[in-house]
Amino acid sequence: MAQEAGLQPLTTLPGVGPALRDCLERLGAKTLQDLWFHLPLRYEDRTRLVPIADLRPGDTAQVEGVIEAVQKGFRGRPQLRVAISDGSQETLVLRFFHFRGAQADQLRLGARLRCYGEVRRGQQSLEMVHPQYQHLGGEGPAAVEETLSPVYPTTEGLGQKRLGTLIQHALQRLPEDEQLELIPAPLRAGLKLASLRRALLFVHRPPPDADVSLLLQGRHPAQQRLAFEELLSHHLSLKQMRNAVRRQVAPALDGDGSLRRRLIAGLPFGLTAAQRRVGAEIAQDLATAEPMLRLVQGDVGSGKTVVAALAALTAVESGRQAALMAPTELLAEQHLRTLRGWLQPLGVEVVWLAGKVQGKTRKAALEAVAGGAGVVVGTHALMQEGVVFRELGLAIIDEQHRFGVHQRLALRDKGREGERIPHQLVLTATPIPRTLAMTAYADLDVSVIDELPPGRTPVTTVAVSNTRREEMIARIRAACLQGRQAYWVCTLIEETELLQAQAAEVTHVELSAALPELKVGLVHGRLKPAEKSAIMDAFKAGEIAVLVATTVIEVGVDVPNASLMVIENAERLGLAQLHQLRGRVGRGNVASSCVLLYQPPLSQLAKARLNVLRETNDGFRIAEKDLELRGPGEMLGTRQTGRLEFRIADIQRDAALLPAVQQVGETLLQQHAPLAERIVARWIGTAARYAGA
Ligand code: ADP
Ligand code: MG
Repeated sequence: MAQEAGLQPLTTLPGVGPALRDCLERLGAKTLQDLWFHLPLRYEDRTRLVPIADLRPGDTAQVEGVIEAVQKGFRGRPQLRVAISDGSQETLVLRFFHFRGAQADQLRLGARLRCYGEVRRGQQSLEMVHPQYQHLGGEGPAAVEETLSPVYPTTEGLGQKRLGTLIQHALQRLPEDEQLELIPAPLRAGLKLASLRRALLFVHRPPPDADVSLLLQGRHPAQQRLAFEELLSHHLSLKQMRNAVRRQVAPALDGDGSLRRRLIAGLPFGLTAAQRRVGAEIAQDLATAEPMLRLVQGDVGSGKTVVAALAALTAVESGRQAALMAPTELLAEQHLRTLRGWLQPLGVEVVWLAGKVQGKTRKAALEAVAGGAGVVVGTHALMQEGVVFRELGLAIIDEQHRFGVHQRLALRDKGREGERIPHQLVLTATPIPRTLAMTAYADLDVSVIDELPPGRTPVTTVAVSNTRREEMIARIRAACLQGRQAYWVCTLIEETELLQAQAAEVTHVELSAALPELKVGLVHGRLKPAEKSAIMDAFKAGEIAVLVATTVIEVGVDVPNASLMVIENAERLGLAQLHQLRGRVGRGNVASSCVLLYQPPLSQLAKARLNVLRETNDGFRIAEKDLELRGPGEMLGTRQTGRLEFRIADIQRDAALLPAVQQVGETLLQQHAPLAERIVARWIGTAARYAGA
């Protein structure tokens, strides 16, 4: 029986003991089927060797060369520079900041290395920071890979190689199509869906003659077959959630408006018409016993926080609690300050709960929450064990795109009392074209704040080649000497925090040296929370003039005096993400600018994309344009929309599949509910998978 084969535990695979089983469980894999559907995040092309002379900054490439020089240095911290060269008479520098003594000893003059990594422009020559490499013995040419190498999402303690082998073992027990297939044949007819079995085998192990470029873009029919089913599973699960929610009850929050009126009266500004309209929509939902599930979309700076505060006060007026959860500690802390400033004068207690709140402080916070404190602000620490609300009436999730789609369920369940659940309000600055909204937000009602507060000075955006880097640095110097502040954002295609942090460290060293008269700070995801907030505080206080940062500052950070932003490698980021980042400037009353620094040469399409940002500050227009411009042939960053976490689908790239997804989804729910359950279980698993995240 197929179902049984797929549901067998992973301990039935050779070599999987308790330790490895636990590791795999952290990845969300418990059964054979979970590994069949653990799909490559991307592929690495090690099928060819690129001559060093042909490398361009921004490429990810495999090269081979002989070590010609090794330099160990200390510019503030240890670093190792290894120069290699090949027959093309050019030199490439490999840079390491973290290395063991034994590793350094092996990188001897004359040794032959094969390296794979991302090429950057270095001081004298091109370089790779922390490339993957292997020593090659002797003179003879070693074979290159015959097929693209899949790269899987993995977890600490489980290497790519080990995971790849396990998946291959699991695939040997893949049953025949008729047993694997969950979409009934009549529904598949006319959709030209490839065989599921073949699609799985293909994406895990692309044959040597596979179309490399289609595969790298995720447009191969095998990938599309899987993307279809994945989109279907998300659609089904959102619909199921929505139906389940409708069957429950929430406390009717029909407060008398007294606190809300006092908050509005005390604000230094009047609400925009859009804020008032959305506020009224929320109040109407909250007043009934049907659980609210509402998404508020509003561009960066449109003033979603005050709308959330009003909703929270509605809960408090009705004798209930409200919780606000933000995806990063930086953002959560900022909300804490804002909400305390607004609500404490009204006599509403605002409790802080984040991962770094420990010991006695944590105990006191937990007691306050259990005792019925009005508002609780925090990170996903809000969902931890030990957090018990007295009467949670409303759960608010900010910047939902940074959480998994299903994560907010965990906060809702925190507030569950038997059949009674809290209302849910979700805020996002990530605009989404209507065509996609039906699938991305199939479970939510949507309100839009389509108006910015008056008096904002629009940000001037320019695209500048990296060859003019020095000029940009001079511009930062001039602006900062006049008392302004600047962000310098480092981006990498690689999404690992480690590599991002390393790239930012390199730039931090560079800018510190180039701007000795200014204080240059550094913030990235690998810092401890306390270090992060110390740096942000110093930046807020104006003690740091230039903040070198990774995309950790993407959401919510509000420092009105910062009026200049430089974004490196802007051509590689999604437009939505660039727009988000740019939203960090233009918050005060000085004219602000954003410099999109790109690596030349720019393709036509990349040029068109950057132009969109120069021409408009309107997040919704940008989202529509983004969708329109995306064409085949363009490689974008791995995290393109940041909206939904998919294994293989990309809601924008695969937008053409959505109408069929919705159609098949409806029929399945109405006529084949058990199959719908199994499709969801296969791709999304149980809610436990998200609750722990
Ligand atoms: P976002 O929608 O990006 O979360 P915020 O809620 O952080 O935006 O608001 C951005 C800034 O605009 C804040 O400093 C906030 O106090 C201010 N603001 C919000 N609403 C208004 C308004 N109606 N008029 C003027 N300023 C406003
Ligand atoms: Mg916000």
